[in-house]
Amino acid sequence: MGQLASLNCLVCKKNSWKGIVVLEKQICPSCEQKIVKLDTSDHTYLEYVISLKQLWRDKPSI
Ligand SMILES: [Zn+2]
Repeated sequence: MGQLASLNCLVCKKNSWKGIVVLEKQICPSCEQKIVKLDTSDHTYLEYVISLKQLWRDKPSI
C-alpha cells in the first residue's frame, strides 16, 4: 500500500493532489485515467507518451 501524499503532477503540472505515485513518478489520477483510456492511435496519446518519455528516461533507445 502506498502512502498518500501531496504531489504535483508531472504531466499536467497542476497543483498538488493526494494520490498515487506511478513508477516513482507523480502522475495525478486524472492524467493516469486519460493515458489508460486513450486509444493508441489518438494523437493526444502520442503527446502524452512523448511527454512521459521526456520525463522518464528509462528507455532512451525508444
Ligand atoms: Zn496530471
